[in-house]
Amino acid sequence: PPAAPPDYLARLNPEQRAAVETLDGPVLVLAGAGTGKTRVLTTRFAHLLVTRRAFPSQVLAVTFTNKAAREMKARVSAILGREVEGLWLGTFHALGARMLRRHAEHVGLKGNFTILDTDDQTRLLKQVMDASGVDLKRWPAPGLMAVVQRWKDRGLTPERVTPSEDSDYANGRARALYAQYQQRLRDLNAADFGDLLLHTTEILRTEPEVLAQYHRAFRYILVDEYQDTNLVQYLWLRLLAKGHGNICCVGDDDQSIYSWRGAEIENILRFEKDFPDAKVVRLERNYRSTRPILAAASGLIAHNAGRLGKTLRAGRDDAEGEKVRVVALWDSEEEARMVGERIEEAQRAGHPLSEVAILVRAGFQTRAFEERLITLGIPYRVVGGARFYERQEIRDALAYMRVLAQPSDDLAFERIVNVPKRGLGDSTIRALHELARIEKSSLAAAAERLALSPDGLRPRPRQALAELMRGFARWREQLPRDGHVVTVATLLDESGYTEMWKQDRSPEAPGRLENLKELLRALGEFESLAGFLDHVALVMENDEAAEGERVSLMTLHAAKGLEFDMVFLPGWEEGLFPSQRSLDEGGEKALEEERRLAYVGLTRARKLAVVSHAANRRVYGNWTASIPSRFIEELPDEHVAKEGGAAMERHRAATGAAGAFGSPFGLAAPRRPPTPRIYETGSWEVAERPARAERIAVGERVFHQKFGYGRVLAVEDDRLDIAFDKAGTRRVLDRFVEKA
Ligand code: ATP
Ligand code: MG
Repeated sequence: PPAAPPDYLARLNPEQRAAVETLDGPVLVLAGAGTGKTRVLTTRFAHLLVTRRAFPSQVLAVTFTNKAAREMKARVSAILGREVEGLWLGTFHALGARMLRRHAEHVGLKGNFTILDTDDQTRLLKQVMDASGVDLKRWPAPGLMAVVQRWKDRGLTPERVTPSEDSDYANGRARALYAQYQQRLRDLNAADFGDLLLHTTEILRTEPEVLAQYHRAFRYILVDEYQDTNLVQYLWLRLLAKGHGNICCVGDDDQSIYSWRGAEIENILRFEKDFPDAKVVRLERNYRSTRPILAAASGLIAHNAGRLGKTLRAGRDDAEGEKVRVVALWDSEEEARMVGERIEEAQRAGHPLSEVAILVRAGFQTRAFEERLITLGIPYRVVGGARFYERQEIRDALAYMRVLAQPSDDLAFERIVNVPKRGLGDSTIRALHELARIEKSSLAAAAERLALSPDGLRPRPRQALAELMRGFARWREQLPRDGHVVTVATLLDESGYTEMWKQDRSPEAPGRLENLKELLRALGEFESLAGFLDHVALVMENDEAAEGERVSLMTLHAAKGLEFDMVFLPGWEEGLFPSQRSLDEGGEKALEEERRLAYVGLTRARKLAVVSHAANRRVYGNWTASIPSRFIEELPDEHVAKEGGAAMERHRAATGAAGAFGSPFGLAAPRRPPTPRIYETGSWEVAERPARAERIAVGERVFHQKFGYGRVLAVEDDRLDIAFDKAGTRRVLDRFVEKA
């Protein structure tokens, strides 16, 4: 009898096994979420090594993130029972950079070329445009940057851009400017991110020797998340695979969520055309999620018209499970509270926190959840990004606020003195430190001096410094008059900080502006700047790296390929998810991509998915009613359990609030604050938090959401010292406190 298959093959179903064991020739695995595509790819990698079809260095494997690459390496090592080294395993960028270093001379670079970040790119492009006499006011550099990036995503060197493809940017000069920009990069021995694949593809296209060398080197090619490749990535793969055709791509058209970065779903169709003898494998059993989760996700994605079409069946042995929860809440604070409570419950029931994720549509949404988790003492990590208050733009803005509140805060001052760039270089900073040391003063005081003294600095930096210090004097004066929210909004604008991000064309820039908006929103919840800064300091202090199990917070985009037992999907509201941007574009295309994102979100869950939406969201401190996302309507009723409806009715009856939702947990829903005054200040629309009608006084008996009943010992702005009956004496924020 034939020998039993090795362990790792026995763990596959017949279709998966076929995909793993079809080692020669092109293979396309086209299958829905959780059907084991990544498992197939990893097993195939190991199988190639075990059967000695290839040495580790002869397999080229592409993953979507560096993290996924590390995981794949670990799994392959586990199957083999030993560490594997010398792998060509990584993201397109990482692999492209590695190849380009070896053959840089073919495109006029040296092997030690530098990789430019987006800042450098834009600066360089500006120089090029300036030198050619382009009117930068009329044709801002970021516009050209976008055009160039699109060309690079499509594998077009300047020579390959045909006149018909030229853009009307700068009166048809885009192509010429692109050529000059590429030349400048060469002069500097530098490459931008787009070049990493553009150059390597060009080398493979034009240098048969090099191509032949790679055909010998890479016997097998493996690609995960194939649906999100762009054209240049496709061309690169096709060139490398042309010799032997041993390429295996796995993907899911329903999970294509990066078209905004140039990904082309058509690459799936191209593959079948370019490799007509490709074996196409379909996997239909989902091993990840319970039946209701799968049914809900399938029902949702069925609303998309542009699909290749697939079947997805529950394949888990324990596929029966709980319906998808849809929870209606009063506002985003209550939403955060609901998520926090359920996580605590899960924790008490013995579920590891590493099996819990909160997946948001937009990065700014993490703030409310982070604060809630910190309050509850639940450790968390933000995947693929920083914690809210650690994000660059938030730290910058906080540094501005700290200088505003406390001019002698040297650390904060140093952080922002040249952000945005004001031409205050190292020598100016040194002069500031010097003077501060001699005079035993703060840096800000030294700056005031230097800005006035005619002989301390050169005229340009002196003026820049003077302007900054005048600004701070003005904002400090404004503070008692206009209140802290308006003042900070003004400061962000007048200091040039807002503009810096508006001008920035990196894909992160819009998210940074949203984060700043969220920061102003958070600021609006406090009665004073000092109160807010204290709060942030407390939140940050809680930061000591908790070892071990943590809840994961991330955007839906970052969650691709991952899985968790329990997944929270908050903020399913029109304008947030689907995003306002996708709605503004109007077309079905953008909306379908949002829906795929929702599908990705739901299919991350193994056992429980909790979708939620808030009826009220504070927008710039102002309350607006929001409408549940259309995606909620699209979830098939029989697989969904709605929560909050009855409680909302009770709340409505009890409070008389028109159209209001209540808390499904029997907690008091927050009183709806009176509509505050709205100011439009430059880039921001901000609102002052109305003074609390109901002042809490010393000696009063109160109830705190977390610590329970207690008596007030002292009141200072919006902070209260309270002797709690059970939790001891603590300093808390008044917004979490009500009269008992
Ligand atoms: P996604 O589309 O989200 O990237 P995927 O198709 O790559 O998903 P995997 O992550 O490979 O799916 O697998 C999903 C889950 O199912 C994993 O936990 C995996 O270990 C498990 N799994 C895959 N195949 C099998 C199988 N034949 N038997 C049992 N479990 C399996
Ligand atoms: Mg996968």
